[in-house]
Amino acid sequence: MIQTDIIIIGAGPVGLFTVFEAGLLKLRCHLIDSLPQPGGQCSEIYPKKPIYDIPGFPSILAGDLIDNLMEQINPFQPGFTLGESAVTIDKTEDEQFIVTTNKGTTHKAPVIMIAGGLGVFEPRKPPIENLAQFEDKGIEYIIKDPQMYQDKHVVIAGGGDSALDWAIYLADNNIATEISLVHRRSSFRGHLDSVQRVMDLADIGKIKLITEAEVIGVRGFEKLEHVVIKHKTEGEIIKETDHLIPLFGLKPALGPIASWGLDIAKNAIQVDILDYSTNIPGIYAIGDVNTYENKLKLILCGFHEGTLAVQSAFARIHPEKKNVLKYTTVNGVNGF
Ligand SMILES: Cc1cc2nc3c(=O)[nH]c(=O)nc-3n(C[C@H](O)[C@H](O)[C@H](O)COP(=O)(O)OP(=O)(O)OC[C@H]3O[C@@H](n4cnc5c(N)ncnc54)[C@H](O)[C@@H]3O)c2cc1C
Repeated sequence: MIQTDIIIIGAGPVGLFTVFEAGLLKLRCHLIDSLPQPGGQCSEIYPKKPIYDIPGFPSILAGDLIDNLMEQINPFQPGFTLGESAVTIDKTEDEQFIVTTNKGTTHKAPVIMIAGGLGVFEPRKPPIENLAQFEDKGIEYIIKDPQMYQDKHVVIAGGGDSALDWAIYLADNNIATEISLVHRRSSFRGHLDSVQRVMDLADIGKIKLITEAEVIGVRGFEKLEHVVIKHKTEGEIIKETDHLIPLFGLKPALGPIASWGLDIAKNAIQVDILDYSTNIPGIYAIGDVNTYENKLKLILCGFHEGTLAVQSAFARIHPEKKNVLKYTTVNGVNGF
């Protein structure tokens, strides 16, 4: 059981900055995110796009903003549970909460901040009947640890940047024994550089390109053993493989958040704008995931919300202590 002061569900920009504001109040945080990396929408959807409305930065790439936030919160040593979704929240007799993930990891704290943005990013899955039977038994939608493909036969399905980038990564680092890239068209949607690199790797036999084809079936006993590929001209191909990685993008869905007994409106959590608390005492909602009159889904608004929410959390965790605002210019940043 991971014990902390504040469990933050969602490691997007708002969840990350909240670690800093909590740290200034000597409150420890642990973040949970269903994605394998921190950064939320900034990392997952638009890492290479410049943002122009972060105060003090005339322009900053979304990915660089996340790198900076990670550096800024480093002194406060936040914990991370990545690649796992928070699925249940239970209240304990000692007025704390236990958050459990889909992988069974448990976290305990007196305060929860939900910074879940648009919700859990769920993978777009190919319409194969018995797909679920082999999930985590050879079928993965997110690559958490590339080393698990060492010396394996891998089939990647998809034609976008994710599919291209991972095929290149596994081939360049000699990780998998065989990498096949299956795409239903003859051309790819990804960056031109990546497309060229995949073609070069295919020319030297490090990637097997199977285009104008789709994976339509999966077979195996206790784990995945074969994929069935339907090729436009060659018909059905049965391919032996250890892994199938369908990379067709991720779609956001409020997901488990909707079942936690919180007041929901417009697909978001209703909060009191005094401190961004929800209808459940001890649970706050900040950033894109909350809603109130005049709400703006902007990063800078989420930073403000997280800052006020941790002040309220401090009073809840340490009712006996008086909190006096101290400038960082005066006090510095004293980590743990
Ligand atoms: C293309 C694009 C351009 C944008 N440009 C700008 C801009 O110029 N300026 C600006 O201010 N904003 C911009 N935005 C909006 C900005 O990205 C969001 O306001 C910001 O990302 C919200 O941050 P967040 O931390 O609240 O949520 P998110 O970034 O959405 O992060 C939420 C995280 O919570 C995780 N999560 C959700 N539910 C669970 C769960 N149950 N368990 C575990 N993890 C969970 C998700 O996986 C996700 O990583 C843009 C958005 C897009 C898509």
